[in-house]
Amino acid sequence: MKVPLLDLQAQYSTIKNEVQQAIDAVLASQNFILGGQVEELEARMSHFCKAKAAIGVASGTDALLLSLMALDIGKGDEVITTPYTFFATVGSIVRLGATPVFVDIDPKTFNIDPAKIEEKITPRTRAIIPVHLFGQVADMDAILGLARRYNIAIVEDAAQALGAVYKGQVAGSIGDLGILSFYPSKNLGAYGDAGMVLTNNEELAEKVSILRVHGSKTRYYHTMVGINSRLDTLQAAILLVKLNYIDQWRQRRREIARLYDKDLQNTPVTCPYVCKQNDSVYTYYVIRTKGRDTLKDYLTEAGIGTAVYYPLPMHMQECLRYLNYREGSMPEAEGASRETLAIPLYPEITEEQRGYVVENIKRFFSSKFSSR
Ligand SMILES: *Cc1c(COP(=O)(O)O)cnc(C)c1O
Repeated sequence: MKVPLLDLQAQYSTIKNEVQQAIDAVLASQNFILGGQVEELEARMSHFCKAKAAIGVASGTDALLLSLMALDIGKGDEVITTPYTFFATVGSIVRLGATPVFVDIDPKTFNIDPAKIEEKITPRTRAIIPVHLFGQVADMDAILGLARRYNIAIVEDAAQALGAVYKGQVAGSIGDLGILSFYPSKNLGAYGDAGMVLTNNEELAEKVSILRVHGSKTRYYHTMVGINSRLDTLQAAILLVKLNYIDQWRQRRREIARLYDKDLQNTPVTCPYVCKQNDSVYTYYVIRTKGRDTLKDYLTEAGIGTAVYYPLPMHMQECLRYLNYREGSMPEAEGASRETLAIPLYPEITEEQRGYVVENIKRFFSSKFSSR
């Protein structure tokens, strides 16, 4: 049996006709840049995420960059974030000439450890970027408390947590700004690159929407130096179709996660830990175990897709060597990068496929221990 990590074909086959109609409508209009579908998507996402404004941009990476630009972050500024994330979180800080300052993670949730943030705050600290990794919101109350006390902005990286809930609040609407990614493998994936900025602050919303069109509000008159980063009308049309299914898919992901939790509880693997105040969307179902690489090879051999998010924490990346972190300076992030493994979870996975994954994980451990 083959069980891919994610089966986008399976999802496409369930919505094919609707998607094709949506694409045809855009083709008929030939209105490819900031067409009506972009505005409609922005309105619906703003409602769905309980944020006053939603601004469609070209990618999650650009959403981070534009958020930091809207906060006027640049040379000499420090931005606190986690080393255990996708590179875009950190790349956007560096691109603007600012300095990323890393704070180690909580080994249970894999999110930034708020207890370790305060010691890293300096007079240059301008923002904190908590990343809601794998679908679970970071400990926002603690982070908001610090941000208020020191007058620091918060940009939530909710690229993996669209629709996740923390104490009744939706991911991306809790900080000053929040970003979403519609990269195909995220829980609401476009058919190409796309992203969004969320905010409840009108001034910041206005700034982001000007910055995404070269810094001009009136065409050909530029009040700021922006970039070209718009969400394609075609992508918006596709996302509007998929948004109709998000609740149903979110529910399915949770059910599958529950079943994995139950089936794997008496094995040596640690299942995702979700805090009581959180409702995770399980964009990725990530287990943790010693001997991760051997398990990964074993599952690959059995036709099961897996992924390591992420094999090398940010503070150890070659391009960031100038920051002078060393191996050992972020022990929890380093430990997680050696022991975590994402296993197949997507709304269309069959019970037979899921059972096959569980069976193989169990077989791996029994064969390993019996051979000793
Ligand atoms: C995917 C992702 C991004 C970047 O999103 P893109 O749309 O691929 O540019 C940023 N941060 C995190 C945590 C992500 O997972």
